[in-house]
Amino acid sequence: MAAGAKVVRWWRWLVAAAAALAAALGAPLPDGNDLEGPATPSYVQHVLPSFGSAVFGDPDEQIGEKVSAWSNESGVNPEELGEYAEGDILFPATARNGLATTMARWPEGVVPYKFSSQFSYRDQELLQEAFRHYHEFTCIKFVPYTNQPDYIYITSSSTGCWSSVGRVGGMQEVNLQSPGCTSTVGTPIHELMHALGFLHEQNRWERDRYVTIHWENIQQGREDNFQAATKESTDDYGVPYDYDSVMHYSANAFTKNGRPTIVPMDSNAQLGQRRGLSKGDIKKLNSMYGCKMSELPKRNSSIASFIDNISAFFG
Ligand SMILES: [Zn+2]
Repeated sequence: MAAGAKVVRWWRWLVAAAAALAAALGAPLPDGNDLEGPATPSYVQHVLPSFGSAVFGDPDEQIGEKVSAWSNESGVNPEELGEYAEGDILFPATARNGLATTMARWPEGVVPYKFSSQFSYRDQELLQEAFRHYHEFTCIKFVPYTNQPDYIYITSSSTGCWSSVGRVGGMQEVNLQSPGCTSTVGTPIHELMHALGFLHEQNRWERDRYVTIHWENIQQGREDNFQAATKESTDDYGVPYDYDSVMHYSANAFTKNGRPTIVPMDSNAQLGQRRGLSKGDIKKLNSMYGCKMSELPKRNSSIASFIDNISAFFG
């Protein structure tokens, strides 16, 4: 969709997406490009520097128990209960092969999907609503799987809410435990945005100008979830720090004592919304995927929301 120079200009935001996608497009990596076999820890550390080998793992049934107990009153989002990298980022060990060369954007923004049969009709409706949300505001297209080589398999085992970051190659899972991760449309929207190549908003390099991290309130051993990215490995796509991003943790994420772990400098800001993509999310997605206004669906239902869409795109 995009050729060399333009692509290079895009790769300045996300920690993983930036490095991994550049790798896929042929940009050099200091550790070399691991063409065959499992990704090495050194490669992982380069692509996802704060994660180390923790980014690979096996889904954990104990996390499922926590998510089962989740309710709207829990004060955090269900994907913030996981013990994977940053809570909900996991490359299942079986998906390691070829990671270095194949983790990338989805060509033409087309993401084939398949549901596991575990989902109820209601859950499937919620997932379709998440897809419609992307279709309404971006040129990304979720299409039913019809034998494409790369696709997401959305499944509901009792291991929490998680996704890997970007296109891994072959089948890649997005886990949405039901009902914990299918209670609100924002959770699938959040996990799908990981699968599209994005990480968490509060780990942007300049976040300390916008939020205060209260390390003393973070559960022991979960401090890594709050590690900021480096400026060099990130690209903001021209979008300022976005309290309203669907990729932002909630204020109480990984709290050990009920007190906030993230406090916004802007006292009016609310963190951790899971209603849908923010204007900033829309702009970033449309930038990463090279969406053109002419490719976005015509939205006749509401002039006001159409204007919102335009301002999100250019804003
Ligand atoms: Zn997440």
